Amino acid sequence: MIKRLFLSSFLSICLLQVIGYSGEADNVLKTRYTAIHYTQDQDLNDFIWHINGRKAEASSDIREGAKSIDRIVERVEDILEIRPRNFKVKIYLQRGPLEENKIAVYDNKTKSIRISIDQATDGVLAHEIAHAVIYQHFPTPPPSKAQEYLTQHVDKELWRDY
Ligand SMILES: [Zn+2]
Repeated sequence: MIKRLFLSSFLSICLLQVIGYSGEADNVLKTRYTAIHYTQDQDLNDFIWHINGRKAEASSDIREGAKSIDRIVERVEDILEIRPRNFKVKIYLQRGPLEENKIAVYDNKTKSIRISIDQATDGVLAHEIAHAVIYQHFPTPPPSKAQEYLTQHVDKELWRDY
């Protein structure tokens, strides 16, 4: 009996893995401030290449490249002089354009950015990170027009002194 129970739980674990593997795989790369969700390694490679202009050859390059995402977060916080405690944001990579032909959107309910891999740039990502920083800092987030003034300031200042 014990043996059979063991076998059936073993089988169900295997089955779960098979289902998990064959479906839309949700792979996650965690950086200091972000968790980047992607389907294939190629998606992650292309995204990082779009953000920092460097092609990754090995997985160690990807980890290194992902640090440029954290640098953008810190740069945005420096420009706004807003540094939310324990800032975290999820980034979902998507092939093709998002709805309404948007390149990226931030959703505060899920604290996540969805971004189109093919059209992603450091500026686009910084803009959405700025929304995330603003939302996560203020107990009552500023109205969207005020937020747009702040995020447009980030757009202008992003790499000004570089
Ligand atoms: Zn905006």
